[in-house]
Amino acid sequence: MDLHEFQAKQLFERYRIPVPQGVVATTPDAALAACSTLGGTGWVVKAQVQTGGRGKAGGVILTESPAQVVQEARRLLGSRLVTHQSGSDGLPVGQLLIEQPTAIARELYLSLLVDRASEQLLFMASAAGGMEIESVAATAPEQIHVTRINPAAGLQPWQARRLGFGLGLDSAQIKTLGSLMNGLYRLVSDCDASLVEINPLVVTHDGNLIALDAKISLDDNALDRHPDLAALRDPSQEDAREAEARMNELNYISLDGNIGCMVNGAGLAMATMDLVKLHGGMPANFLDVGGSATAERVAEAFKLILSDPKVTAVLINIFGGIVRCDLIAAGIIQAVREVDITIPIVVRLEGTNAPQGLQMLADSQLTVTTASSLSEAADKVVAAAHASNRNAEAVQ
Ligand code: GDP
Ligand code: MN
Repeated sequence: MDLHEFQAKQLFERYRIPVPQGVVATTPDAALAACSTLGGTGWVVKAQVQTGGRGKAGGVILTESPAQVVQEARRLLGSRLVTHQSGSDGLPVGQLLIEQPTAIARELYLSLLVDRASEQLLFMASAAGGMEIESVAATAPEQIHVTRINPAAGLQPWQARRLGFGLGLDSAQIKTLGSLMNGLYRLVSDCDASLVEINPLVVTHDGNLIALDAKISLDDNALDRHPDLAALRDPSQEDAREAEARMNELNYISLDGNIGCMVNGAGLAMATMDLVKLHGGMPANFLDVGGSATAERVAEAFKLILSDPKVTAVLINIFGGIVRCDLIAAGIIQAVREVDITIPIVVRLEGTNAPQGLQMLADSQLTVTTASSLSEAADKVVAAAHASNRNAEAVQ
């Protein structure tokens, strides 16, 4: 789960990481009021959407009058901001962060993340701030400085010095960097974050360091330990189907392909996706209905897959160990009664009560194709998806 910039900056303040003074506004009137709360003669208006590249997309505006703040607030609030990272639908802007402007001398990059390879937390810093770190890594990898934290020893003073020298900071700034890194380290550890990114970390005209942007990703598996952080979730920023799936306790991730997959067990789901690809198809999603799936959950899962307009064929691959295949069949039949299905469905049921499940599907007069092996199922669904694509094109 990701936090909004303003939420991340509120956490930063708790860990004494310097951020600009700011006020959150959800209406143009509140944006206007923020100008007098903050004072000064200029304000930065920042759309709160959980994606990068807002600046280039018109989501970060430097304004010079309260009237301009109101004008930008009217434009942004209620709109969808499309950035090069957001996908073509963009994300809805429900909140703005109005900030005091910062006089920028240099833009740096600093992040702290879980480095899975070394099983340690890793600080990454670069003098090329304001750019995406992936493109710095691709074009100027020598500009990226890293240091890993030994979990037994904790963060050491030399680590801030190493990164500080790399960034070309003076000794006073390196001291500030050290305290900032210490704050980030405590924040990541306390909150079970998987990533904190400050891009840009700014050196101001007076030589101070300040976090101009803030991104925090939290480890979903640790959210039970942090009800206060879990409450910060903004479903409007998430994939609607993934949010719906979470409410039904389904493990669903949407992907780019056109073959909907409903599988029980994460390992089998991965294997199914591999086989679909091996047979020349592209999965539209990862979906694990779990070991203890009920007919209702299967129905919800099936509706979820069908609500994706990309899906042109569905593969249901269930291995009945704990879950019974007749229950799965009941769920499919229930879902089909509730939604109108016009696309081909390939089913492979194996294991507990598989013959009963297959018989129920046959009796239901649904037009499903059955397969007796996983490979055959993948082959059939890829062929069905191709045929269904061609039909759709013929209709157009
Ligand atoms: P992002 O594009 O979504 O990463 O949004 P950022 O918060 O990083 O802002 C984008 C860019 O806007 C920054 O890299 C800065 O160059 C610029 N910017 C943001 N806030 C200020 C500010 O207070 N003063 C100045 N001069 N530029 C700013
Ligand atoms: Mn940024």
